[in-house]
Amino acid sequence: MVDLNKSVQYIKGVGPNNMLLLQKLGINTLEDLITFYPRTYEDRGKPKKIYDLVDGEEALIDVICASNMNVTRFAKNKVMLKMLVRDDTGECVLTWFNQTYLKDKFKLGERYQFYGKVNIKYGRIEMTRPVFDKDGLSKNTGKIIPIYPLTYKLSQNKIRSIIENGLKEVAGKLEETIPEYILKSYDLEDINTAIKQIHFPNDFKEYNKARRRFVFEELLTVQLALSSLKSRYDKQINGIEFDKNVKMSDVIDSLPFKLTKAQLKVLEEIDKDMESNKPMNRLLQGDVGSGKTIVSIIAAYKVAKSGYQSAIMAPTAILAEQHLQEFTKVLEPFGVRCELLQGGMRAKKRQEILQDLKDGKIDILIGTHALIVEDVEFKNLGLVVTDEQHRFGVRQRANIVAKGNNPDVLVMTATPIPRTLAIILYGDLDISIIDELPPNRKKIETYPVKKNMEHRVEEFIRKNVQEGRQAYVVCPLVEESEEYENCKSVMELVEEYKTKIFPELKVEYLHGKMKQKEKDDIMKRFKDGEIQILISTTVIEVGVNVPNANTMVVYNAEHFGLAQLHQLRGRVGRGEYQSYCILIYDSNSKTTKERMKTMKETDNGFIVAEKDLEIRGSGEFFGTRQHGLPEFKIANLFEDVSILKEVQALAAKIEEIDPRLENDYNRQLHKLVEEKFEDRISI
Ligand code: ADP
Ligand code: MG
Repeated sequence: MVDLNKSVQYIKGVGPNNMLLLQKLGINTLEDLITFYPRTYEDRGKPKKIYDLVDGEEALIDVICASNMNVTRFAKNKVMLKMLVRDDTGECVLTWFNQTYLKDKFKLGERYQFYGKVNIKYGRIEMTRPVFDKDGLSKNTGKIIPIYPLTYKLSQNKIRSIIENGLKEVAGKLEETIPEYILKSYDLEDINTAIKQIHFPNDFKEYNKARRRFVFEELLTVQLALSSLKSRYDKQINGIEFDKNVKMSDVIDSLPFKLTKAQLKVLEEIDKDMESNKPMNRLLQGDVGSGKTIVSIIAAYKVAKSGYQSAIMAPTAILAEQHLQEFTKVLEPFGVRCELLQGGMRAKKRQEILQDLKDGKIDILIGTHALIVEDVEFKNLGLVVTDEQHRFGVRQRANIVAKGNNPDVLVMTATPIPRTLAIILYGDLDISIIDELPPNRKKIETYPVKKNMEHRVEEFIRKNVQEGRQAYVVCPLVEESEEYENCKSVMELVEEYKTKIFPELKVEYLHGKMKQKEKDDIMKRFKDGEIQILISTTVIEVGVNVPNANTMVVYNAEHFGLAQLHQLRGRVGRGEYQSYCILIYDSNSKTTKERMKTMKETDNGFIVAEKDLEIRGSGEFFGTRQHGLPEFKIANLFEDVSILKEVQALAAKIEEIDPRLENDYNRQLHKLVEEKFEDRISI
């Protein structure tokens, strides 16, 4: 068997310099090296004739060197190298910069293969910075070539040959990591074939088979690890048993509205968790406006009356303030004390709050991440509620949880996540879903419109504002950008609106780069009705509640994820007025049209999310990174949904039959999970 822990320095071709560069890439051992998967591949398989080259494409040509290298200096220390090559259909000029060592590399009349990007200007065909092979010695051309991610000063050629050497050492000798019965029933390729084909595939069919195997392995490992993490929570840690005599119904009966069936069901689940001696770790998913806040208020009531404290963490200061109002309104009559802790507070006030918190005189502390700072000390923290968790991430959650003694945790998110993804994103949590909106909500009318309808949209805004309503207008950018020429920016639009289009109205703006205090001030004035049109980036995406605002206009809607558009849409429709969401898009692509149609036809966030996943397949669905996910080496949660589903079905079966992976036929899985997550889990 090969020693996979062997340091890369012993691999052929790795000198001391390269070793440092490899370490920068996180490659220390032979195993790291062979699992450093390509980012993409270039098909340098078939050469093209010069006559057939297309401007902008990358192509391989098989040519004769037709001139000496022409070297010209320009600027200071800059050198341009040019050479003419030819085949039986035409001529092409090759250009390099500063690579002076190429000067005498090519011999007139000999045959070479070049691969690079084609430029065609005024009929002149050029290729810039091509890579090359001498005829018959194909190293860089003539096959499917792996391209590795960000390699610093290591050239692609170098890392490619180091990996090739690494693969030679392990060829045919890797121990299979997936049990035979799984390989068979899921038709997965064996590890030795797959490792070779993932780096240097014979063809794309082989590549796909190899990739499927590694994706499957990676997802299965994470899924099994998460379930063991969860069962460890469930079994080992002692949590707080909240008082059975404190009835949630006391608060429920005091409300001016009836809770929905979904809210009641979720509260029942939470109540059960709270009374048990295991810490609650629950994700509460619910569409915008489905009434999650009241659920957390009722939970915090139970905590307070059991003699414990709650921490409520909101993603923005505006939301924290809004929460304070809602919590106070409901709980003050019960003698529960709620306080707000903010970033920019006066020192004296802050000290008072911190002292009272420490003394247990405050039942519920509400704030943003300022809550997590070190000098905040609770007397006996019993419940942590994080609202809109994707802004916090797992680590921050752990930090605040550490301020108590195994407090219960309720994570609330309004980003609807298809169930498949939820299981892997929040695999360590139990999941509750509010899948029903309070009754008598008016349906928000959604209208996707092409950019040339802009002026009609403006008239529509005017009409609504004249009737006393307010409007949100969202743009993808803060300031104009050359990179995104066709995108509206907040600053640009503010200028247009204030001077040309709505000079008679009060127009203001909001974006993430503004100071917190300015943002809060603008938001307050909007809430108070002083501002009629609020132009902003997606900072208003989260939770803001202004019932009088009935119009949401989004510029360049094609640039937003559907889940995000759905969130934005949720900012309106919060009052008694008919509300509208107008999506201005500037794209003719089929995908955009399909996505706009989904927005128009669907108002259920979970369906929107499923569709988004289906249509886009991949991409920034809602930014996986923010979720504090385990980083995947090869799997892509969005492209690999179908594999994920297979894996989850399998993991569920395994969990049922052999939860601790003790059976001999699962010993490889046991090892996989332990090795990959040894710091976090011991089964
Ligand atoms: P979410 O946080 O899920 O987006 P909120 O908790 O902010 O939603 O609720 C939106 C609004 O609906 C709030 O004003 C809240 O008081 C109200 N609400 C919550 N539950 C109900 C209900 N069952 N019936 C009527 N109104 C409700
Ligand atoms: Mg909310």
